[in-house]
Amino acid sequence: MRLVTFSDSSTPSRTGVLVEGGVVDLTEVGLPADMADFIRLGEAGLETAAEVATRAAPIPLNLVRIHAPVPRPPKNVMCVGRNYRDHAAEFSRSGFDASERSVLPEHPVIFTKATTSIIGPDEPIVLANDPTGTVDYEGELGVVIGREGRRIPQAEAFGHVLGFTIVNDVTARDLQSRHVQWFIGKSPDTFCPMGPAIVTTDELPDISASWLRTHVNGELRQEAPISSLIFDIPSLIHTISETTLLEPGDVIATGTPAGAGIGFDPPRFLAAGDRVEVSVDGIGILGNPVT
Ligand code: ZN
Repeated sequence: MRLVTFSDSSTPSRTGVLVEGGVVDLTEVGLPADMADFIRLGEAGLETAAEVATRAAPIPLNLVRIHAPVPRPPKNVMCVGRNYRDHAAEFSRSGFDASERSVLPEHPVIFTKATTSIIGPDEPIVLANDPTGTVDYEGELGVVIGREGRRIPQAEAFGHVLGFTIVNDVTARDLQSRHVQWFIGKSPDTFCPMGPAIVTTDELPDISASWLRTHVNGELRQEAPISSLIFDIPSLIHTISETTLLEPGDVIATGTPAGAGIGFDPPRFLAAGDRVEVSVDGIGILGNPVT
């Protein structure tokens, strides 16, 4: 199933399922309008949604706006730094990593982005929100947690995953470097495009076989298989849940491969008028203009 948050001109945003011909509104059958509330219903919610999706008349896509699938996760979007070998090397070479101790991390480097930075597909990334003018893109696979858990063993990790989405971990590089701690440089408003949908795990049983690609103005900048993550999805879920309760609707952005703007010399930061598109096989394309 492809779960979305959407709105049309007459109503506030609500949950839906993307089907052939449009979006089926899940609130029509009494399901919650908020995605995190819907996910909290667990299997019962998913079964009802799947059933409705087969029979209800969809609202045509041209009449709706698609938002970030989880507009307000229960906690900040959790992210993983330096989780692809070649990106770790390019970040190290760039001189922007003030936190670095070694090029390849021994343990996952986890940081977060404020939930207020989340935007949906086609919403603009606003350069003015970074006073330093060093805005960069990071295409990433996003993991959406379906079932609450603490101290989750790696072997049980996928049982806690609802599905996958796409995240662009937009970053203000000078802020990331200047403040050493990454929260400020990662959290400016509009710096967390997410979407277009959550594709449930039953439709993507082997996510590691998917490839991630980022294009800027049609030019291929990043391309890597999910299988090349240094710390894979079970390892990330195990690490985070050892100390922190994972909740339905939490989102983990799993890291970015080589080819970010800082990988170039001189760096190729985003400029007004650019368009960034991140794609993951089996999920779709997350495209955002830059203003
Ligand atoms: Zn990132």
